[in-house]
Amino acid sequence: MDSGALAPLDGTEVPDSKGEDKGDMSETIDLRSDTVTKPTPEMYRAMAEAELGDDVLGDDPTVKRLEELAAEKVGKEAALFVPSGTMGNLVALMTHLRPSEEVIVEEQAHLYLYEANGLTAIAGAMPRPVRGVRGHLRPEHILSKLRPDNVHFGRPRLVCLENTANLAGGTCLSPEDTQAVCATAHAHGLAVHLDGARIFNAAVALGVDVRELTGPVDSVMFCLSKGLCAPVGSLLAGPADFLAEARRNRKRVGGGMRQAGILAACGIVALTRMVDRLAEDHENARLLAEGLAELPGIRVDLDTVETNMVWFHLDPARMDGEAFQQACAQRGLLLLHRQGGRCRAVTHHGVTRADIERALRIIQRLLWESSP
Ligand SMILES: *Cc1c(COP(=O)(O)O)cnc(C)c1O
Repeated sequence: MDSGALAPLDGTEVPDSKGEDKGDMSETIDLRSDTVTKPTPEMYRAMAEAELGDDVLGDDPTVKRLEELAAEKVGKEAALFVPSGTMGNLVALMTHLRPSEEVIVEEQAHLYLYEANGLTAIAGAMPRPVRGVRGHLRPEHILSKLRPDNVHFGRPRLVCLENTANLAGGTCLSPEDTQAVCATAHAHGLAVHLDGARIFNAAVALGVDVRELTGPVDSVMFCLSKGLCAPVGSLLAGPADFLAEARRNRKRVGGGMRQAGILAACGIVALTRMVDRLAEDHENARLLAEGLAELPGIRVDLDTVETNMVWFHLDPARMDGEAFQQACAQRGLLLLHRQGGRCRAVTHHGVTRADIERALRIIQRLLWESSP
């Protein structure tokens, strides 16, 4: 980090009030999520020119092209275009599981805590949550949840991984650790589904081909509509017979879309043009995290800042989290307060290095003004 970005503050100095944070308030910096990204100009052109058909009848060539490209990228036989990551995960769960079967899942997993309980309500499965390491399951966590075959128990059937692990800070699961956990699951007759909403962030951060992260799993979902900037859409990929059944389950939950090529066209641009630039988001997240770590009343675990997310903790004695979120918003900086002072900021295509520097000044001023 360029040390000029933010002067260290010991709580006694007045931050520079001539800073740009008094400037153009029309330029809101939106760090709530990478889902706020808009389609790129190239995506608009691709939409206008997309060849379309009725995809439920199987003849939208652009959707087919996206599904083939996606399958190839993650090294699977086939892929299925779905409207959201939540539906991709749900359809995967419905396809892997029969009611009453058990799913071993990290206790903060998105598909366990943030998907309106589709896992139980629709797939009818039984979650077996376990605390992992920085959001990730290890072989011993799988073993700890296995029980002998007994009439009292549901059957364990599936392990769910998440890469990057959102609630843990956007942390990555390496190829070696993915291999190890999948080997243990498979040795015990369990399939593995990967919630790879941000799998390309993981691949870019780790400097590996995404196939090293998806190869060992049986199915993977990833999102086009987050850091990759497509307006709508996710993909579920896996073996062809699995995907044929998943296609039926997608229809069952109303996810069959007609001239969906208009969206798939953006997805093709997302996958071919928007992956490598994620490195820039990771650099900006790092800059933000290091700046925040210097501010009084804020704690950041810098070790968890591996991709485009910064989870930080605001000391409630210094300022209430809700009040902090609102005060930031009034100054043109949007971020999310979850609870108890835990806040999240996410970098993306619409956020520059200069925006991060301005965001840090906004927060620095705010904390200074509210200091006891
Ligand atoms: C965003 C997200 C999803 C769901 O994606 P939607 O498109 O918002 O439904 C699933 N898993 C993780 C880890 C996510 O961050």
